[in-house]
Amino acid sequence: MSTQVRISEVSLRDGLQSISRIMPTEAKKECILAAVRAGVCEMEVGSFVPSSLLPQMADTAEIVEFARGVEGLEVVALVPNLKGAQRAIAAGAHRMSIPFSMSETHSVRNVRKDHAAMIAEIGAIAQAVAASPEGQRPHFEVGLSTAFGCTIEGPVNEDQVVRLAEASIEAGAVEVCLSDTTGYANPAQVRRLVRAVKAAIGSDRLNTLHLHNTRGLGLANVLAGLDEGIRTFDASIGGLGGCPFAPGASGNIVTEDLVFMLEAMGVDTGIDLERLFEVRKIFAEALPGEPLYGFTPDAGLPLGFNNSREK
Ligand code: ZN
Repeated sequence: MSTQVRISEVSLRDGLQSISRIMPTEAKKECILAAVRAGVCEMEVGSFVPSSLLPQMADTAEIVEFARGVEGLEVVALVPNLKGAQRAIAAGAHRMSIPFSMSETHSVRNVRKDHAAMIAEIGAIAQAVAASPEGQRPHFEVGLSTAFGCTIEGPVNEDQVVRLAEASIEAGAVEVCLSDTTGYANPAQVRRLVRAVKAAIGSDRLNTLHLHNTRGLGLANVLAGLDEGIRTFDASIGGLGGCPFAPGASGNIVTEDLVFMLEAMGVDTGIDLERLFEVRKIFAEALPGEPLYGFTPDAGLPLGFNNSREK
């Protein structure tokens, strides 16, 4: 197998926004440089939310501008609404993603918008992208969050996810991503939902899964997605940020374990594991006492395993 898989590193956004500590801007920059040295080619580096809500993300514009200058890196920013999208466009993000909760209760409670209002917001963002000068139009993606289940509503209807994926594309998004925000997904469900969404919107419109490891099924879910043609997976170094529902569990799937699994299977990620461990060290030093997860970094690489990119 020589399948190429892209890993989108989300620790600086999903990880950091889940902890109350603020990571110094300089340490974030160091992480970006070290991650790129390890072979990471896509990073979600922050979120354009008001800094009064998430002070951890207050330097997002500066970080996006910095990351844009790093060769070979695709820079992603999360945007909660049109205002955030305008800031992401101005900062020069290559890609931006808006979370759209498939559970309407969750959406109303979190961003005070029902589904109709969210579709309108997605349409307005697509227009803002189209109105931007050429070369300054980020690739606009909608993250279908709570797609596999919601902590308020419980099960989320799969037909509804398919319908809202279609509505997102009709409103002008280029792509959607399926997000297991709550860690409810299982491999059979991943297979089913990926197939259904791809069948409805076209297989080139769904390339990414955002998975959490809340119940230990993160990597199993990756394999199910891989079988269904998914080629980009979000992951977080050290599973940074943990999981608010399950103390002791990582939040996002752990990048180190994901890279190890894929590379051991012969799937090319472009990432050098030894160098990836160096990024973990930067997080450990910048956020002393913050738990970092993952089995591979603790156990070490198996004897004879070598995926070094050194020539
Ligand atoms: Zn997440």
